[in-house]
Amino acid sequence: MVPFHSRCPAGPAEATFGFEVAPGGALAPGQYAVEELYCDEPACDCRRALLRIVPRGKSVPVLASISYGWETPEFYERTLSGDSEAARAITCGCLDPLNQKSPIAPVALKIFQSAVAGNEFGRHLKTRYRQFRATLRTSR
Ligand SMILES: [Zn+2]
Repeated sequence: MVPFHSRCPAGPAEATFGFEVAPGGALAPGQYAVEELYCDEPACDCRRALLRIVPRGKSVPVLASISYGWETPEFYERTLSGDSEAARAITCGCLDPLNQKSPIAPVALKIFQSAVAGNEFGRHLKTRYRQFRATLRTSR
């Protein structure tokens, strides 16, 4: 998985989705951004993103790493050899196994699911995935 901006640096920063956290919760109050990473294997068509929740304007700390897919659960069920539970999880957003142990990751995931995930975000990722994948074809 490679950051979107490493291959598509012209993309405007404000196109990055995010959310605001009010004081009083488990996360420090402020603006957070959802950084997108995509798969750079030319022969692959996994149609998902790895999302990193970070304070807006910074690259660390990563509060959560989330696997997210914008296609239907049926699509991922096919690519995940019939694992319908994993397929459903990726369409809702699920924590990347390496980062599940951070105590704030589940909180960040919940906020992401309620404030960011949805049709508009799915369309955004689909567009960015195409832009990203196009750079793989032209650089070969
Ligand atoms: Zn892939």
